[in-house]
Amino acid sequence: TPTIGVLALQGDVREHVHALERAGARPVPVRRRSELDAVDGLVLPGGESTTIDKLLRIFDLAEPLRTAVGQGLPVYGSCAGMILLADRIESGIDGQQTIGGMDVLVRRNAFGRQVDSFEADLDVAGISDQPGGSPVRTVFIRAPWIEEAGPGVEVLARIPSRSTDGNPVQVGAGKIVAARQGRLLATSFHPEITGDARVHALFVSTVRAS
Ligand code: GLN
Repeated sequence: TPTIGVLALQGDVREHVHALERAGARPVPVRRRSELDAVDGLVLPGGESTTIDKLLRIFDLAEPLRTAVGQGLPVYGSCAGMILLADRIESGIDGQQTIGGMDVLVRRNAFGRQVDSFEADLDVAGISDQPGGSPVRTVFIRAPWIEEAGPGVEVLARIPSRSTDGNPVQVGAGKIVAARQGRLLATSFHPEITGDARVHALFVSTVRAS
């Protein structure tokens, strides 16, 4: 059973812990460097990326985490966690830094105010296209999207151009909302709050294979 850390500085840590348990991993909270050094993989939860960025630096975890990513630690970032994994951000606050590792430009709070939060059924590559697979229920909460992705990035899901009722999608049609690069996985949405552990299981399989 792989030991997977959940960065526990801010955000929805408990939900990821439960989802990782359902996906067959042993989750542990990570707040210090010794805890980071002891995990086989790490989840960066949803929350507020600007706050998590500050706390990472205050807790002296930013550099060790960058080093770990560079050495191939599998990391899954959801929502704010996606922002932290991005090499470049748009609409960050002044001085906001990321850990980086994924060759993407991420737009914070991309879906805009009027549609701050919404749910959708999305096809996610590696999940929905498996035998017996089905779309993933996704929850977006003041979510980012990936504006540009480099050639090494595998796109796993995009916002469709039409919703299930056939109406054109007003905001974000075609934007990338799930992607993978090597051992890094990122989603704009929060699979940890739907009870569906398939995204976490996909990450656990990356950790097992590494
Ligand atoms: N808007 C948040 C940020 O910029 C992310 C929201 C979330 O993680 N649900 O960090």
